[in-house]
Amino acid sequence: MQSGAFPVKVETRLLAAEVLFAVPLKFGLKLVFVVALTAALALVGLASGRGAGHVPAIWWANAALASVLLLDRQRRWPQLLAAGYVGNVAAHLLFRDPLWAVILLSACDTGETAIAVYGVGLSIKGRVDLTHQKQLLRFVAFAVFLGPFVASLAAGIILRLAVHAHLAVALRWFPASALGMSVVVPLVLGLARRETRELFQPGHLLNTLLYLLMIAAATILIFSRSDFPWLFLLLPPLLFLVVRLGLSGGVLGCCVVAAIGTRFTISARGGPLAQLVDPSLENRILILQLFLATAVLSVSVVAIVFADLKRAHAEAGLSEERYRQLATSMEALATVDALTGVANRRQFDHVLQKEWHRACRHSSPLTLLLIDVDRFKVFNDLYGHLEGDSCLRSVARIAAEISRRSSDTVARYGGEEFAVILPGTHSAGAQQTAERLRKSILALEMAHGGSSHGVVTVSIGCATAIPKEGANVNEIIAAADAALYAAKSAGRNCVRAAGA
Ligand code: GH3
Ligand code: MG
Ligand code: MG
Repeated sequence: MQSGAFPVKVETRLLAAEVLFAVPLKFGLKLVFVVALTAALALVGLASGRGAGHVPAIWWANAALASVLLLDRQRRWPQLLAAGYVGNVAAHLLFRDPLWAVILLSACDTGETAIAVYGVGLSIKGRVDLTHQKQLLRFVAFAVFLGPFVASLAAGIILRLAVHAHLAVALRWFPASALGMSVVVPLVLGLARRETRELFQPGHLLNTLLYLLMIAAATILIFSRSDFPWLFLLLPPLLFLVVRLGLSGGVLGCCVVAAIGTRFTISARGGPLAQLVDPSLENRILILQLFLATAVLSVSVVAIVFADLKRAHAEAGLSEERYRQLATSMEALATVDALTGVANRRQFDHVLQKEWHRACRHSSPLTLLLIDVDRFKVFNDLYGHLEGDSCLRSVARIAAEISRRSSDTVARYGGEEFAVILPGTHSAGAQQTAERLRKSILALEMAHGGSSHGVVTVSIGCATAIPKEGANVNEIIAAADAALYAAKSAGRNCVRAAGA
């Protein structure tokens, strides 16, 4: 098997893994899948020559296993690691390695995956997202460096003790594993994102294909030349892809580059990597993979910046919305009477002033009703304050129902007194409204032992003015108050108009 063919093969296998894991598999089936996946990828790796004295291209099995573990929602990591170990052992056995090597080297591989997965995933609740700066840093520290480092050191020591192997074995294990992690894990996690599926939905499909085609064309252009290493020219279009399509788009772009780049690199002409001092196939593949790892990591870093920006933007929008809600409720609090829900005294003053000036400008009539609950002190004494409060709410509700015009304002003037501002209403009409209000409250038949009517009644003072320039708003309040006093004097439960 040619080592150069691996990236393409592994890529399709990983995609297949993703498709499979998108469907809810029975866990047993998943374990079997993990055994098969790890065994297949380990075989690919072994065939490419890890430990065989040749340049190990890239070790896919551990990274693929780590990806599967990180994607497992229930985090059944120990079982999945065990399945991965079985897969590794199977591959080594098929490769006819001695039993001690099978057991110990497979353990190194599984240990590497465990360090990567526990190091990255343990402190993160939910799915790992490499567009978070902290998560990417943990990933680089544990999956790209620590896991491969510990495993390669252990393998080096084991091989040294067992077969007096040169420590260079360990030096080859490390880059192969680190490369595997840095290419495969971001790729699989990126492809598993919802964002990736969205890229292929009808609204986005054409756009996505267009951008990927652009990357494909650029890759073909650069890889078809063997006379100069233009490889670095691929980074700007890849980063552009992240800007337009997000991390998933960037990762997909890397897949396109990997697929096309591999085809050209293993061809006889060797593509841009034919310029190496040692342009052997192994070396060309190694440099290509280093380039791909760099591309994937660059894409991830740019994706982080954009994801951070997006998150900050969303948060800013959210706080603005919260602020607006708060402002609205503060405004409502400042203008509404808490007990009855009608306008409070502050709002009453504000509206009356405004309507007074408007009436003055248009020389139109303005009416003010002052409503006072009769013998309310006795009502409270007889039935208690809670019953009194409920009575006030009923009076407010009836007042609001009677004065329905959008320009009308019902307010609690203070205690058991209410006010109704009726702009554009003449005295006769206003007295009719007041009379209806009085009768409606009487009709409620709220029992009142202290009233000669046996039920709750109100007295209403009514004042209408067509204000002149320079007139004071207090005049209409005083007039309505005087009318209310007249209504009380006349025996209560009646309407009196100022000046009448
Ligand atoms: P009048 O017929 O002359 O208006 O007699 P009145 O008893 O209604 O008048 P007075 O001003 O003597 O008493 C008003 C009472 O209204 C006194 C107070 O306890 C009661 N009151 C004022 N605000 C509230 C309130 O928010 N809830 C309740 N339950 N009672 C209130
Ligand atoms: Mg009163
Ligand atoms: Mg009263």
